[in-house]
Amino acid sequence: TTPTVAELIGKNEVLPIYKPRTKFSHKGDFGHALIIGGSYGKIGSVTLASQGVLAIGAGKVTAYTPKCGYIPLQVGFPEAMVITDSDEEKITAINYDITPNVIAFGVGVGTDAKTVTAFETFLKTNKTALVVDADGLNILSKKKALLKLLPENTILTPHPKELERLVGSWKDDFDKLKKTKAFAKKYKCIVVIKGANTITVFDDKLYVNATGNPGLATAGTGDVLTGMIAGLVAQGYDALSAAIFGVYLHGKSADLLIEDLGYQSFIASHVIEGISLAYLDMF
Ligand code: AMP
Ligand code: MG
Repeated sequence: TTPTVAELIGKNEVLPIYKPRTKFSHKGDFGHALIIGGSYGKIGSVTLASQGVLAIGAGKVTAYTPKCGYIPLQVGFPEAMVITDSDEEKITAINYDITPNVIAFGVGVGTDAKTVTAFETFLKTNKTALVVDADGLNILSKKKALLKLLPENTILTPHPKELERLVGSWKDDFDKLKKTKAFAKKYKCIVVIKGANTITVFDDKLYVNATGNPGLATAGTGDVLTGMIAGLVAQGYDALSAAIFGVYLHGKSADLLIEDLGYQSFIASHVIEGISLAYLDMF
């Protein structure tokens, strides 16, 4: 077996990845992300992910949700465009007439049989760069045959429970990383193991993130991260760089805000507001 190389990711490591804007930039230079997600009562997840996309600098975001997501999204986040499914409460078919640079599937989607079929049908023809999170991961765990349909370098962003459903339970942390490495190699994907020290797994390498704090242990922060990573891919960052830099900026945002806000009152929307501070800290 190849020895595992682990790299600690701090500011010095992400500086060479970072692409600052130039004077002549226009929104068409920064790509378009499509966020497919939501179900009745879980439309906020799509709003948060869409906000993450634009706050990290992508040019445009479109949300694809059940019909019940239309008004909340248009009112709650006017910067996003919205396409709706024919079903009121859940995603039943994925049809759109735009050409996004990246698609994120899974926040708030639930695991209804019709949604599973819609995702499967989508995967059979999709060639666009992909991020899968939340119930999207749970669908992949329920129907493992779908894993073979993921485009190369798909980014998966499981929290520990979602990871366990994907790779099985582990004895200890070494076993967890070994199982995740084997999984990432088998399906040629990038796995972002979320937690206190988020680890991005790609091929034989582990990237251990140094930013973030317990303020992030609250509803919706994972949805924001999904949007942030998709927003970086939309801007032309390769999948691995997008995962590593997205995780870094997400944690840095929280670190820069926490002195004023404290851990207990910190909520996912704060992460979005802090992204600008995290970027300013890059200079
Ligand atoms: P999710 O469970 O999908 O909502 O994702 C939670 C997000 O918050 C992930 O990006 C985690 O890495 C982050 N997070 C959760 N708990 C902590 C913690 N104690 N320290 C740092 N980051 C955390
Ligand atoms: Mg989550």
